[in-house]
Amino acid sequence: MSMNDDIKNILVSEEALKAKVAELGAQISRDYEGRNLVLVSILKGSVVFMADLMRAVTIPCNIDFMVVSSYGGSNTTTSGLVKIIKDLDGDLSGKDVLIVEDILDTGVTLSKLVPMLKMRNPNSVKICTILDKPSRRKADIQPDYEGFQVPDEFVVGYGLDYDEKYRNLPYVGVLKPEIYA
Ligand code: 5GP
Ligand code: MG
Ligand code: MG
Repeated sequence: MSMNDDIKNILVSEEALKAKVAELGAQISRDYEGRNLVLVSILKGSVVFMADLMRAVTIPCNIDFMVVSSYGGSNTTTSGLVKIIKDLDGDLSGKDVLIVEDILDTGVTLSKLVPMLKMRNPNSVKICTILDKPSRRKADIQPDYEGFQVPDEFVVGYGLDYDEKYRNLPYVGVLKPEIYA
């Protein structure tokens, strides 16, 4: 039984992801040359993108990890809050923070997290997401770097889960409806 059997269609292939990550890594390396870059991965969804992106970045950088959860109402409303479950290890003062995300959906999570990180006196805070679902946006937030725009469908793979599964699919796809049933 293969995970592939649960996928209705592939939205972003392994080859397309690889090419895009190389492009993003090159662009980030140019933009952050001579700066104090720290890549901040929001776990768990961004783990696969982070591992690929950090190796496509050719300038010195730090990496750090954070676990957050949305609460205080549904996480599809902008009134929700973000709770830090696991904080960063490092100090951000004077750092050029690049948040590495799996998908920018409603934008609620990052619209709360960015101001929290800006209070730590970084030099800059920007967002790099491999997927963007602009049709679902509720918060006023845009990625500074993005991989692919996806339609308003629930996607899995390349770090993204359904019920903690499918994160290890090497591509981004849509599940067959019977999987949710
Ligand atoms: P937000 O709505 O705050 O922008 O997104 C919060 C988080 O919800 C994302 O970082 C991601 O982990 C999860 N998420 C949003 N859309 C999808 C989706 O289509 N598939 C999966 N697996 N997770 C999603
Ligand atoms: Mg995420
Ligand atoms: Mg999830």
